[in-house]
Amino acid sequence: MSAISSALVIGGGIAGPVTAVALRKAGIDARVYEAYPTPAHNIGSELGFAPNGLAALDNIGAGDLVRGVSLPLTHMRMSIGDKMIDMPSSAGEPMHVVARGDLHRVLHDHAIAEGVAVEYSKRLIGVDETVHGVTARFSDGTSACADILIGCDGVKSSVRTIIDPAAPDADYTGMLGFGGYATISTPVPAGTQTFAFGHKAYYLYWPTRDGRVAWGANLPHARHLTLAQARATSNEEWLAILSDTYAADRPGAELIANTAPDDFVAVGGLHIMPPVPHWSRDRLVLVGDAVHAPSNSTGQGASLAVESGIELARCLRDFDDVPTAFATYESLRRPRVEEIAKRGAKTNHAKTFGPVMRRLMPLIMPMMFRSTKVRDTLSAEQSYRIDWAGTAVR
Ligand SMILES: Cc1cc2nc3c(=O)[nH]c(=O)nc-3n(C[C@H](O)[C@H](O)[C@H](O)COP(=O)(O)OP(=O)(O)OC[C@H]3O[C@@H](n4cnc5c(N)ncnc54)[C@H](O)[C@@H]3O)c2cc1C
Repeated sequence: MSAISSALVIGGGIAGPVTAVALRKAGIDARVYEAYPTPAHNIGSELGFAPNGLAALDNIGAGDLVRGVSLPLTHMRMSIGDKMIDMPSSAGEPMHVVARGDLHRVLHDHAIAEGVAVEYSKRLIGVDETVHGVTARFSDGTSACADILIGCDGVKSSVRTIIDPAAPDADYTGMLGFGGYATISTPVPAGTQTFAFGHKAYYLYWPTRDGRVAWGANLPHARHLTLAQARATSNEEWLAILSDTYAADRPGAELIANTAPDDFVAVGGLHIMPPVPHWSRDRLVLVGDAVHAPSNSTGQGASLAVESGIELARCLRDFDDVPTAFATYESLRRPRVEEIAKRGAKTNHAKTFGPVMRRLMPLIMPMMFRSTKVRDTLSAEQSYRIDWAGTAVR
């Protein structure tokens, strides 16, 4: 039984509310502190949510809430030039796609319903530690105290540098993210997600329930742009740039041409987190993108974030001293998240292949997808389950 009775959760994005609910289920009082002034319900495009993430959320009663706002995709295929190649798909529950805003809304509302207090306009600027506890200092001059502090503060995490000033920053993948919805005449099969390697850039698309086609684009861009910097350029201007980039691609060109500026969103630079040497120090620990953003290419970012939050709560429930709980959490999570990030790095590399490799891809990819190694890798990623009912073992 845990001797830890209270936690400060920094960041109310995806991992934050989930971690707080899981902690409450573990008997630990958790409060969430978010830098934004309000919940960010309408920010972001669509993201992939994997069966392992849904199963993790079932442990805290939130799996069906996410299933309710997301779309299952039973079939995956890759398009390179005129070639369409079937990809292995999950044997059990399929991958889902969900608008980041909807995902955030249901997880946030679930946390509130479960009694978690969420405070806004609370940007963490510093931490004071004693042998008995930790105090978080916020930019509005207020502070809060608890036994431990958990950094769910995303890819630009402040808690990461408070734990270790020499901690690495997230790497920029060299691509900007965009998303949109279009009505097009090219038929797109139901329940199917297509990963398309266009002439100049990668994109993906799938049909939505309302008869439109949702799409995402990864635009190679030398200079990193934050979300705010990307949004300083108007949607009309970005659509013109993307129209040029995807001009030779089908249905890429049609998707861009039929997307209204109001149905378009810029996400900014896409990141991948290199291995972080120190996941925790004393009474501070990291969860989610703050410690293991595996890049959008894996479709696992949000799922791994919620898995980690729930696994950390299980470890804190089952060990009565903080160092053992944090060390067990890291030993359970690090191998899995670093392996998935390696796969993400390889896929990112393929998205920026030159013309020679692009010509070879239609030959290489079918062989790769037939290999049992690729199928086993995806199956291991997606069939992973957290043993919430069982005791955490180091
Ligand atoms: C506004 C926004 C839009 C996004 N859009 C997309 C998208 O379209 N597609 C996609 O694949 N992924 C998107 N993501 C990233 C995606 O949500 C994460 O990769 C993933 O879900 C992991 O979640 P997380 O909780 O670890 O990190 P995040 O979801 O990034 O949440 C981190 C939270 O911490 C808060 N925070 C940061 N610093 C501090 C601080 N010092 N004090 C207090 N709070 C702090 C942030 O405001 C944020 O709410 C977006 C993230 C954000 C914040």
